[in-house]
Amino acid sequence: MYSKILVLRFSNKVVHNPVVCTLAKEFDLTFTILNATILPRKEGVMVLELSGSKNNFKNGVKYLKDQGVNVKNASQEIKRDDKKCTHCGACIAVCPTGALYIQRPEMLVVFDQQKCSVCELCIPACPPRAMKVRPKTGMIFDFQS
Ligand code: SF4
Ligand code: SF4
Repeated sequence: MYSKILVLRFSNKVVHNPVVCTLAKEFDLTFTILNATILPRKEGVMVLELSGSKNNFKNGVKYLKDQGVNVKNASQEIKRDDKKCTHCGACIAVCPTGALYIQRPEMLVVFDQQKCSVCELCIPACPPRAMKVRPKTGMIFDFQS
C-alpha cells in the first residue's frame, strides 16, 4: 500500500468538478481529506491523504493533472520567523483557514501550523517577510517514480 499526503490546487474552472470522487472510483484509491479551503478568488486548496497501489497512485495523479489540478506533495510547510514578526496583523485578513489569529488581550498574532493549508497567501502579505515556505524533511517523493 502506497500512501502520501498531497496538496491539490483547483482553479475556479475545475473547483466544482467531482475529480476527487472520480479519482477514488476510477483508480481504486482511498482518500482522507485533511483540509479543504475555497480561496477568495474561488480557487480551491485541498490537502488529502491518498492511498492505493503505487501504479494506481501514479495514474491517479496523472488524471488529476490532466484535469488541470495542480498537484504537489505535502513536502512543504509554512514557518514563521518569530524574530521578524511585528504582530502587525496584516496576514490575518488573507489567511483562509484561521491559522493566523489574534490572541487577546495580549494582541499577539498566533500562527497555528496545524490549521495551515500551505496556500502561501500570507507570504507576500507580510511586510517584514516573516512567513516562509520551506521543504519538510522526510516526506519528499517523486511522482514520476
Ligand atoms: S499559508 Fe499562510 S495564509 Fe495560507 S493557510 Fe497557512 S498561514 Fe494561512
Ligand atoms: S503580517 Fe507578518 S509581521 Fe505581521 S503579524 Fe503576520 S507574520 Fe507577523
